[in-house]
Amino acid sequence: MPIQSLLIGLAFHAAPPPDFNAAAAPLMARAQESRGAFSLLTDLVDHVGPRLSGSPGAEAAVAWAATQFAALGLEARKEPMLVPVWVRGVEEGEVLAGPGRQKQPLALTALGGSPGTPPGGLEAEVVEVSSLAELKERGAAVKGRIVFFNHAMVVADDYGRFGVLRNGGPAAASKLGAVAALVRSLATASMRSPHTGHTRFAEGDVAIPAAAISVEDAQLLHRLLSTGQVRVRLVLGCRLLPDVMSSNVVADLRGRERPEEVVLVGAHLDSWDLAVGAQDDGAGVALVLETARLLSGLKERPRRTVRFVLFMNEENGLRGAKAYALAHASELANHVAAMELDSGAGAPLGVSLKAGAGAAALVGPWLPPLAPLGAGTLLVQEAGGADLTPLASARVPLVSVVQEHAHYFDVHHSAADTLDKVDPQAFSRAAAAVVWVTYALAESPGALPKPVAPPAFSPASAK
Ligand SMILES: [Zn+2]
Repeated sequence: MPIQSLLIGLAFHAAPPPDFNAAAAPLMARAQESRGAFSLLTDLVDHVGPRLSGSPGAEAAVAWAATQFAALGLEARKEPMLVPVWVRGVEEGEVLAGPGRQKQPLALTALGGSPGTPPGGLEAEVVEVSSLAELKERGAAVKGRIVFFNHAMVVADDYGRFGVLRNGGPAAASKLGAVAALVRSLATASMRSPHTGHTRFAEGDVAIPAAAISVEDAQLLHRLLSTGQVRVRLVLGCRLLPDVMSSNVVADLRGRERPEEVVLVGAHLDSWDLAVGAQDDGAGVALVLETARLLSGLKERPRRTVRFVLFMNEENGLRGAKAYALAHASELANHVAAMELDSGAGAPLGVSLKAGAGAAALVGPWLPPLAPLGAGTLLVQEAGGADLTPLASARVPLVSVVQEHAHYFDVHHSAADTLDKVDPQAFSRAAAAVVWVTYALAESPGALPKPVAPPAFSPASAK
């Protein structure tokens, strides 16, 4: 990940207590020596497995998480909400034979939220575009066709830029009369494995079948289209079922001095269905539970309450995030910091903040214990996480432990997001960094200044 980072000049005037190194050393050593986060992650992926919200796997994950908290002596609450149920079915595609050309199969997988095709599939000519602007220019030319969204994702930081094609491309194509959409996988590497993800159809949109194709198959389509017309046959058996109840899992480690002040540490419990979601976001779940394990084992609890939140339905709806913001609306003013772990299992690189002026001076003095991990630096980049977006209107300060993620999008949302891609040593360093940053936020005498108000977000109006 090419991080645009630099060291901020820090005013070291908000000093932590003189014995803070004495607190840091054993906490961070335990995180690294025990490799507890890796054990938790192994247990989650081997015993629960894939956990798309609304599936039996997701409910197994809820039960598993509650059991983990209970084993630490922490009472876990299941906070309910309705979640969508989307199920995958048969998925097949092929480039049809053309003049002087044999037919060829396409490696593809349906995007979450996509409707199925008619049972016999559909066939249409393909139109390639590389942006939503180009789609708009094509206008009526895409009517009755399959729109193929091609792009040039190379590095992890391209995800935001090209992610709009997967999120909004199929709906935009539908508005112009397209019959289906194929989106080049958002991936930084490929062994011909397609990468799924959510695609959004708003109320009133005509939902059309939408699938991700592997990078290799996207390149094939691009080459064939440069020489002439291409027709594709697509069969998708996926469908959306009625919503069901599910839950966030929430547990508090009550603060010894200011229990009403909350430091939220979260991750999302759901994953995509194609794999066990070791990186996305099993790693984050394990980091949250390991932090709970290490902090609950302290002789003296931190000053503030640390709240561990495992959100449901981050991947295809953010229902858990919205439900949390609604259920806790009256306490959000007392959320003094929130951190979401949703960047995989890579080594820690530093800390970033989204808070008001003076935040760097407050956090900076707590960073030296992270230096041996290679993470003792305050980085100038976004802090946050998708599940924390509904907290923005309450101006909750956001903190991130930035992790190395150059290879995160090699496997993200694909069948290859499995445990073998996790380096236990790097992951244990991430766990050490997360537990220390959490402790610092909960123990620091001063609280982070709140960030400036963002544009209004109303969880009540969100679906
Ligand atoms: Zn995630």
